[in-house]
Amino acid sequence: KFEQSALLNNLPKQFFAGLVAKVNTSIEAGHDVINLGQGNPDQPTPPHIVKALQEAAGKPDYHKYSPFRGQRFLKTAITEFYQREYGVTLDPDTEVAILFGGKAGLVEIPQCLLNPGETVLVPDPGYPDYWSGVELARARMEYMPLLKENEFLPDYSKLSEKAKADAKLMFLNYPNNPTGAVASRSFFDDTVAFAEENDICVVHDFAYGAIGFDGKKPVSFLESEGAKETGIEIYTLSKTYNMAGWRIGFAVGNKSVIESINLFQDHMFVSVFSGIQEAAAAALLAPQDCVSELVARYESRRAAFIDALNGIGWKVEAPPGSFFAWLPVPGGFTSESFADYLLEHAHVCVAPGIGFGTFGEGYVRAGLLTSEERLREAAERIKSLNLFSQ
Ligand code: PLP
Repeated sequence: KFEQSALLNNLPKQFFAGLVAKVNTSIEAGHDVINLGQGNPDQPTPPHIVKALQEAAGKPDYHKYSPFRGQRFLKTAITEFYQREYGVTLDPDTEVAILFGGKAGLVEIPQCLLNPGETVLVPDPGYPDYWSGVELARARMEYMPLLKENEFLPDYSKLSEKAKADAKLMFLNYPNNPTGAVASRSFFDDTVAFAEENDICVVHDFAYGAIGFDGKKPVSFLESEGAKETGIEIYTLSKTYNMAGWRIGFAVGNKSVIESINLFQDHMFVSVFSGIQEAAAAALLAPQDCVSELVARYESRRAAFIDALNGIGWKVEAPPGSFFAWLPVPGGFTSESFADYLLEHAHVCVAPGIGFGTFGEGYVRAGLLTSEERLREAAERIKSLNLFSQ
């Protein structure tokens, strides 16, 4: 009876909703599906964080509206976290905005900064929610290919003069979803120079900021000199502390962008429940053993899975960061037909690369989000399909 707006009709299709439906159909048919297709952390939130929420939940003051723009104690905790982890100094009052998870911030930002028709540089392959934010702002995208030969970093020298002149905003994301690539400090230094030269605001999505392997801690964009003048970083507690269901994250960096986000949110929300803000502050300020344990766990899973796949003759590389493996599709398949084939014949779900953009074709993404045993079993099941020669 009531028709959807053109705005909603124009939003990119939620590719992964289709994937979930396929998995559910397979489960309903009685199959034991090993689901490596989604990015949902499988471990519980560390108990000290849960306890902080339980204690905070009873505070009558917290049952009222939280202060607009968030609790100051959380903003201070965020500044302490950035100082401790990255040596970056932030002002809690002007350089921090509290978000309902990273996704909310990423989707809001184009609407905060762009007018219809303006241009955003978006990584391809990339996290699909960037596209939704751009569409909601009625802005347009210019894709930056992330190629293996350039370690899945954008090559700014390959962008057209027009794209550089038109671009107002740029999304980046390292450690990267879906490729697992990480960025170096010098890449971010170059990014600051590129953005300054072309007057582009950088939005660095640091969702996997805690997850770097081989003893290499991922660098924050804000560590580069001049980064705060050039853009912001979006951080989320979803992955670092297994808090995906809690919906809490934050934006840090450039004052005017932070003010725009806060102003936008004044019109949309009040703020996240104060009990969650208190638990988030506890997470950021407590000893970080739970984070080292989490990284060690993903690192063992990475070793188990990548070794097992190479063992069955599927030549794959270990991701340096994030909890995703980016696996080349064997000949004769598209990323989608290969993902369908694995689901149908091995009951293993992976995400087709095409779901992340044109340059994602030729790959599938597998999440290290189940036990080593199940990851090895996934490899065994794939082996039995005889797609690879050993
Ligand atoms: N950015 C990237 C690259 C992600 O993969 C995700 C979640 O999967 C997010 C942001 C959003 O995380 P959240 O909204 O849970 O903070």
